[in-house]
Amino acid sequence: MGNGFFEVPIAVNEPIKSYEPGSPERKEVLDTYKKMYDTKVDVPLFINGKEVKTKETATMSPPHDHKHVLGTYHKATKENVEEAIATALEARKKWAAMPWEQRAGIFLRAAELIAGPYRAKINAATMLAQSKNIYQAEIDSACELIDFLRFNVQYMTEIYAEQPESTSAAWNRIEYRPLEGFVYAITPFNFTAIAGNLPASAALMGNVVLWKPSDSQVYSAKVVLDVFREAGVPAGVINMVMGDPVMITDTILASPDFSGIHFTGSTHVFKDIWQKVGTNIHNYKTYPRIVGETGGKDFIVAHKSSNPKQVATAMSRGAFEFQGQKCSAASRCYISESIWKDVKNDLVADLSSFKMGSPEDMSNFITAVIHEGAFDKLAKYIDAAKNDKNVEIIAGGNYDKSKGYFIEPTVIVTKDPKYTTMCTELFGPVLTVYVFDDKKWEETLHLVDETSEYALTGAVFSEDRYALEEAVKILENAAGNFYLNDKPTGAVVGQQPFGGARASGTNDKAGSKLNLYRWISPRMVKETFVSPTDYRYPFLG
Ligand code: NAD
Repeated sequence: MGNGFFEVPIAVNEPIKSYEPGSPERKEVLDTYKKMYDTKVDVPLFINGKEVKTKETATMSPPHDHKHVLGTYHKATKENVEEAIATALEARKKWAAMPWEQRAGIFLRAAELIAGPYRAKINAATMLAQSKNIYQAEIDSACELIDFLRFNVQYMTEIYAEQPESTSAAWNRIEYRPLEGFVYAITPFNFTAIAGNLPASAALMGNVVLWKPSDSQVYSAKVVLDVFREAGVPAGVINMVMGDPVMITDTILASPDFSGIHFTGSTHVFKDIWQKVGTNIHNYKTYPRIVGETGGKDFIVAHKSSNPKQVATAMSRGAFEFQGQKCSAASRCYISESIWKDVKNDLVADLSSFKMGSPEDMSNFITAVIHEGAFDKLAKYIDAAKNDKNVEIIAGGNYDKSKGYFIEPTVIVTKDPKYTTMCTELFGPVLTVYVFDDKKWEETLHLVDETSEYALTGAVFSEDRYALEEAVKILENAAGNFYLNDKPTGAVVGQQPFGGARASGTNDKAGSKLNLYRWISPRMVKETFVSPTDYRYPFLG
């Protein structure tokens, strides 16, 4: 047994590789992509350290090539989920008692595995499963996941070091216990990093976890699971169950030992889950922690003083990278009338230069949207805009699902600031623009604040400091991540902790200490060195 106040490596952000033509990383990831494309995989459930196959399976295909089958995954039965709960609770006995430096060692090792031997594989899997171009895959599945793992280890030690005052007579100590029970992590399709972080952050703090990845992300989730296994996460600590989300969730929420949910996904799903937790509240042994990061209707507002080229670039990148399927993606823009002509010219020129197709061709900036349901929904909104004489489509407007789910990046201009696509989260490459009168800056800021139920990200462009300051004040509650003269996407762990309020989530800021606090239950221990032997206080005379 070794004693010591161990210091963990200081976390630094993982450098982003360039993948420029001729680079070794480009060759490696493309070779890996091809190999994975040609190999069928079978993804079992993972319960108590064992692979579990079931009778029911589903197939996995790349969104940009939906007739091609990458493999199958197994769907859990109710009994599988119950077994996962029981074995996780058994695993908890040893895991919760494990010294923190052992847990840190496991997750630091996971980060290093992704940075090195798994980098090409996790990126290629994300290109195939979620149709990300290589840059989008690199900043997500490699860099962001590595950052989550490393920074969370550092934050964990900072939390453990937070201790109360003591005196010579009594020593006060806080023990940061894991939650009593198990945590349920439900993850979305759009970020492999989020899929890895939601189970890992809770497990790092000593919890056992049931993890349900999105049906559309199982393929890359399997690589994350392989990393966790190789890093040494013990049996039963992180269990992966796929299948019917309602059955799995209902089974989990029915357990008296359910102690927390770590969710990222859409607002309506999260609200339904919250309601179910409320309905079951009398059955639980402890009040469950409810953490959810949900939808957004993210904005860019540009003052007349802003630089049109910078605004157009923020729109091109902020609205269309990864086909607008980032929770932070700009989807409604408010542009001052006097700069609109220039912004429009630059934006339309940018969009006409975008190439669209498979991520395997690295000159493609735009790839496919995630599945047929998303494609059909987006096509419906685009058709409605085409048929509405009050709006104009100034770029894009075409779509084709014959080979992959391709939607052309589309810009709608509306004279109605409450037009449906200014208010509803579409989660795709569709941006709606409202051009406002230069004189109505303050009024427009109030409009931005009041238009949507969400408050995730937002960006303001202005060279005029007074106008900028006005926006900072009026939009105080309109976004959890607020950008001045920058696009609203691209949050970096350790630099811009991420999360929104209102209907966008509980704002527990993934990739920060605030999030980790939700996975612990502190025990205060006071030790008195010499206990009193007489109940009488001096004032009693
Ligand atoms: P989704 O809500 O469809 O799915 C998220 C997860 O919930 C998946 O694992 C899914 O299987 C599960 N699920 C679906 N229906 C369920 C049900 N009835 N009961 C229990 N679980 C259920 O979301 P998605 O399409 O995977 O992701 C896109 C959404 O996620 C967008 O709304 C986006 O804004 C949001 N998102 C938010 C953040 C953030 O940090 N705020 C980050 C990423 C994504």
